[in-house]
Amino acid sequence: MSELPILNQSTKTIRDSEGRRVGPMTLQLVAGLEKIGLAMKSRSWRREGRAGLGPLQRQILSLLHAKPDQTAQVSTIANELVVRLPTASEAVATLERKRLVRRRRTMRDGRVVTVELTARGAKAASPTTGMPSQLTTAVGVLPEDEQVELLESLVKLIRALQQQGEISVARMCLSCRYFRPNLHSQSDHPHHCDYVDAPFGKADLRLECGEFEPASAAQARDTWAVFTGGRTAAS
Ligand code: SF4
Repeated sequence: MSELPILNQSTKTIRDSEGRRVGPMTLQLVAGLEKIGLAMKSRSWRREGRAGLGPLQRQILSLLHAKPDQTAQVSTIANELVVRLPTASEAVATLERKRLVRRRRTMRDGRVVTVELTARGAKAASPTTGMPSQLTTAVGVLPEDEQVELLESLVKLIRALQQQGEISVARMCLSCRYFRPNLHSQSDHPHHCDYVDAPFGKADLRLECGEFEPASAAQARDTWAVFTGGRTAAS
């Protein structure tokens, strides 16, 4: 049987902005991700965001929630979320008007302003509060095993974006000094977290962890090689 022709697909070689050749599957996946990105900016999602929290506001709350003392300077917020300082300041001011954060000048250096989560903000920072229901419905369509695969793929995509400087800090297992990937490779729970000294499975990979501590560049490279099957874990 002949292969199914892909209608309207150009036979021209497609290259990215740096001149690298892009395969058809990569193109399909990028187009899919762009469509999801566009949907997240759609009118109905924005409307829902206005009633609750916009994407940047929600990211700021999650970031503060993940910090041990639930505080951060505005410059840290801007840096970790890769937005400009005025954009971060504006979002923080909006959150303050909603009484979800408060700004304080530090005792040591009155010029430094820290942003602190309020009790109301901590409640709103819960992972599903205010999340567009369209997104939870869409993800919920996937069976559990596909959700786990998607989580693993997201972790890899985020790490690749981090490598390119598009996400400066991702508080996830793959960048964490406590992460020991595939340490128990024959088990259902192949990974190990040294912080709690316990094995865990793919479904428990964290994208935002309060106990995260950054790995050194050498450890992060090693972790990536073991995680992606480049070589086996050293115990
Ligand atoms: S401390 Fe958190 S981010 Fe680090 S390995 Fe453990 S679960 Fe993952």
